[in-house]
Amino acid sequence: MAQEDVFKKLVSHCKEYGFVFPSSEIYDGLGAVYDYGQNGVELKNNIKQYWWQSMVLLHDNIVGIDSAIFMHPTIWKASGHVDAFNDPLIDNRDSKKRYRADVLIEDQIAKYDEKINKEVAKAAKKYGEAFNEQEFRSTNARVLEHQAKRDALHERYTQAMNAGPDLNELRQIILDEEIVCPISGTKNWTEVRQFNLMFSTEMGSTADGAMKVYLRPETAQGIFVNYLNVQKTGRMKIPFGIAQIGKAFRNEIVARQFIFRMREFEQMEMQFFVKPGTELDWFKKWKEIRLRWHKALGFGDDHYRYHDHEKLAHYANAATDIEFLMPFGFKEVEGIHSRTNFDLSQHEKFSGKSIKYFDPEINESYTPYVIETSIGVDRMFLSVMSAAYCEEKLENGETRVVLKLPAALAPVKLAVMPLVKKDGLPEKAREIMNDLKFHFHCQYDEKDSIGKRYRRQDAIGTPYCVTVDHQTLEDNCVTLRNRDTMEQTRVPVAELNNIIADKVSITSLLKTLQ
Ligand code: ATP
Repeated sequence: MAQEDVFKKLVSHCKEYGFVFPSSEIYDGLGAVYDYGQNGVELKNNIKQYWWQSMVLLHDNIVGIDSAIFMHPTIWKASGHVDAFNDPLIDNRDSKKRYRADVLIEDQIAKYDEKINKEVAKAAKKYGEAFNEQEFRSTNARVLEHQAKRDALHERYTQAMNAGPDLNELRQIILDEEIVCPISGTKNWTEVRQFNLMFSTEMGSTADGAMKVYLRPETAQGIFVNYLNVQKTGRMKIPFGIAQIGKAFRNEIVARQFIFRMREFEQMEMQFFVKPGTELDWFKKWKEIRLRWHKALGFGDDHYRYHDHEKLAHYANAATDIEFLMPFGFKEVEGIHSRTNFDLSQHEKFSGKSIKYFDPEINESYTPYVIETSIGVDRMFLSVMSAAYCEEKLENGETRVVLKLPAALAPVKLAVMPLVKKDGLPEKAREIMNDLKFHFHCQYDEKDSIGKRYRRQDAIGTPYCVTVDHQTLEDNCVTLRNRDTMEQTRVPVAELNNIIADKVSITSLLKTLQ
């Protein structure tokens, strides 16, 4: 199946099974805003819990906070967001569609890469075992031609972005490369303009006028402005970290690809405060720790890669993304940045207050350096759903859709089903559920045939189902069905908790990280 179709199916599956709904749907929706349904919220909460516990339980030098979404507007001046949190946008006059100029150019670079990869794949097929890819790439005339064009474009683009960006040059690149609007197919482009991504609103209603405040575009600044409060009240010693999960808002120009790019989303960020000069060692450590966290979910190591940044933000001295293989290619899920002492120094400058750390070990005060790990909950959700979604051909010729979610993340851990709706079986099933519901999330289901009920649970990723039948009333045993293997075993009711609890707990998943 084409990857595009897989993605479409995933989006409709998310809606059909109560994971994600378009916001305000009965009013035709609101661009790039989504709501999570009854299963989505459970999965999302489990992802957040997995992250939170991996930070604050497994590291005794990391604590959490929950700062407000509204903050003093000067914070965003200090952080650089008022002046520089911009995307270069361009409109097509014919389709009236708006694009990010940088994205149009990056897509063009990707097209050259695609052409090169196609040539390589064609040759690999033709020459079989004898194929030497390295040699082919360095000698084939067509590949070299594409590569030269790609490199020249990349160089020109990087220079334009580094120069401010140079908006005229970005436009010129789009014209020179003959990039057309995918909707109208024309090259009738406007000028490129800078567009600030922050949402603003007004606070208060005094006679002097209200104050313009912003909806935070990242949670990190709430950590920076509280770091000394936490350090002092928690008697934290450097190195230490502060973790936070919360909403962030960005008025994205091009919001597509479902929950990959939203205007209201959630971030899980951890800022790790270190001694100046040690930051690159910590950067390396956090890169490894975070990748291990992703890989522990068991989707396969080939689903992840690092993308080290060549072009660094003005405040960073190292940066990498952890990319995940989505149905539309490798995409950033998490950013790990060595942010130097930029943010803390800026807040010191703009607030006029000293926020230096006194290091008792060297008897000196300094502004700590910061390593940030920043991951979007919604992007993580999308990566988990896309890796878990699976259409399987069964021996009897039927197809089943199954979400092979890691058990610890699954919204429902166990479905309890009476074989029939009579003879005391529903009562027995309820009794089992009433006992187990304190340990993990259970769902009771008595409607339709057992086969249909299994399919419904497969579609939401429930790792276990138990069926209560007439025999159960005599021997107190049930049929336990495994989602992935579809194997059914007969087990005593008294053992269900022992068998299941451990396998579906976040604690077990966390233990694999140690
Ligand atoms: P992108 O380049 O995709 O716009 P970014 O580099 O601006 O992302 P960061 O500012 O580093 O992203 O934010 C950290 C994380 O927050 C990202 O890795 C992503 O998971 C998430 N994120 C950022 N913007 C959005 C958005 N509009 N919708 C959903 N998640 C987002």
